[in-house]
Parts: sequence; C-alpha cells; structure tokens
Amino acid sequence: MPTAYERALDRAVPGVIAETIQITEIPAPTFRERTRARHVYDRLEAIGGWSHLEIDGLANVVAVRKGQAGRARLLLCAHLDTVFPDAATPVVRSRGVLTGRGVGDNSLGVAAMLGVAQAMQASNVTGVGDIIFAANVGEEGRGDLRGARRLVKDYARDFDAMIAIEGHALNRVQIQAVASLRYEVSIETDGGHSWSAYGRKNAIALLARAIVALEPLMPDPAATPKTTMNVGVIRGGRSVNTIAPDAVFELDIRSVEPANVDALLRDARRAMRAVVGDEAEVKFKRIGARPGGSIPMESALVQAVLGVRKALGLPEPEFYAGSTDANAALGAGFATTCIGVTTGGEAHTPREWISTAPIKQGVPYLGRSIVAAARLPRTTIRR
Ligand SMILES: [Zn+2]
Repeated sequence: MPTAYERALDRAVPGVIAETIQITEIPAPTFRERTRARHVYDRLEAIGGWSHLEIDGLANVVAVRKGQAGRARLLLCAHLDTVFPDAATPVVRSRGVLTGRGVGDNSLGVAAMLGVAQAMQASNVTGVGDIIFAANVGEEGRGDLRGARRLVKDYARDFDAMIAIEGHALNRVQIQAVASLRYEVSIETDGGHSWSAYGRKNAIALLARAIVALEPLMPDPAATPKTTMNVGVIRGGRSVNTIAPDAVFELDIRSVEPANVDALLRDARRAMRAVVGDEAEVKFKRIGARPGGSIPMESALVQAVLGVRKALGLPEPEFYAGSTDANAALGAGFATTCIGVTTGGEAHTPREWISTAPIKQGVPYLGRSIVAAARLPRTTIRR
C-alpha cells in the first residue's frame, strides 16, 4: 500500500510539468534571477508550513520546514539561473517532449522541488529532520556557485547533508565534484590607426599566439583522471582599421583531481608568457574557482538514494563527477549528492529538451529520496 506521501507525490506530477513550463518562460540569466525568485517565493508561500521563508540578499529563495530532532537535516538546492539572455521564449510541447531554454536545466529541478514541498505539506510527513528548500542563484557560468556557496555558509550549522537537484539527471548520481579554475587572460597594447600607426603591437595577434601555445598542453580526452582545458569566450579590438589595443579570453580548467588543475594552470601560464615574451604582458584574473570533493558510495546518503531507485525499478545510475551546486557543499565536507528528475538533452542550447514521461517516476524518486535521507539518524549522516 502506498503511503499518503507517496500518493501525494504521484498526484504532484501534472502540476510539476505545468510549473516547469511557467518557470521556463520567466527569464533568469545568471545575476538576474529576481523575477523568477519572486515567482518561486509566491509558490512556496502558497504551500505554507514554513518556520522561515525569505529571499536573501543574493535572491536565493529559502524555505525552512522544521522537523524532528535527531534526524538528518537536509539542504536542498535547485538553481534558478540559466545560461540564456533576458528575452522570454515560449516552451514548445509536442508528443511527450518539452523544448525550451533551460527547461531541464533547471526549471524542472525547481518545479520538482516545489512538487515535493507541496506533497510533504499535503500529507504531513513526519519522522524527518529539518529540511531547507532553496531555489538558488548563480550556478551557471560566471555565477561560480555564489548562491549555493552563500547557503552553505549561512546555514552551515543547520544542515547535515545536501541534495542538489538538476532536471536532466534522472539516471545520474553525482558522487564527485569536479574541481575547476576559470581565468580571464588579457593583453593590452598601445594600439593605433591600422595605416598610420602600422607596426605597433596588436593585442589580438599576441593573444592568438598565446592561445595557440595552449594546444600542446591540452589533456588527452581519454586520459584518467579526466582533466580538461577550454577556451570558451574571446573578445577584443575596436574596429577593422584599428590596431587592437586589447584582447581577452576566458579559460576553463577542470579535473576530478584538484592537483591537476593547479598544475595545468601553471603550465598554461608559463607557455603563454613564453610565446608572448616581452612584447606585452599577459595578465591573469581569476573569475571562478569551484572546489573538488567526493562522497563514498557506502555513505548513508548515497545508499538511501540507491534504495529508492531500486524500489521504483529505476536502472543502475551512472555515478559521475560533476560541477553543480553540490560542489559547494562537497568542497566544504558535507555529505552531498546531485540527483535528477527526467532525461533529455541539448542543455545550454536553444534546442534544449526533456521527456515528460519519466517525470512520473522522477518526482516520486526525488521525493522519496529526500524523505529517506531526512529520516536517517543524524549520527549516520554527519561528516
Ligand atoms: Zn543546471
């Protein structure tokens, strides 16, 4: 016999899908999440039962559900922000698929968290520890996990374990945090007119030389531990007839082995400075750093999630090393994982899509995992 909570989770599914569409259609680029945050706040207020509900200074939405002492206290994080600009774009619905910008990353994650909150309140779940429901800012790109970092800091004494929620990750369970470093690399020169000042140093040409110098350092895609380096954005110059006085690119280095990140950065700096020589100064500005970390498979949190997967007949998941809000808590030493709600693809592109059918299992999976974890004795989950 399903429990009242399990029935409430099943009933929440259509509402989660409708809410996913609504959230997707409210633009929320990183650093401009407030409108979406307001919307989520209103939803949480309507659900009710909170001992604390607020939008914090960064625009994280936080709702605290008081539970039973001695049980594991959870921090749930579903990020609000997307990699897309301000313009609202409609979600297209067709044959079991929703297509839209950020629909799975992470509108569905936020909507599913709301569905779980609603189901817990409606069925009056007991025997669980405190649960902090957070729809946070700043997970993507230059956000550098600012929202989740702030929550981990502000609530460090109020939770024992963290679960991050990502819409797409139904069959993936994060057990490692990929460490990363992000730098802005820039070169400045005097510049000048392309005809009358011809011969002066061109910042774009020098920067291009620096980028080419990275090529021999690029880690082998098949190597383990996996380590990556990417030139993601480049900009600079003034006009076609101006010797470029400035040029900048953004560099991203990641590894499941934090020491590799530092070593590769060192090599990259040395190689770029060597090829540019004394023709200009290569400047490095850190624009992001995500901590690494991991959770053992045998941990009570991971085992609770796997138990729920088994009960629901979900397949053996892929255990992965990720770069999500979970990194903020894993890096701080908390038992942490990141789980999801459905399957889909093309995240971070305008063609992003999710399948709606798996959400029928995904919402119960998320909801039951949260309650299974929050029912654990605190002593078994503490770091
Ligand atoms: Zn995401």
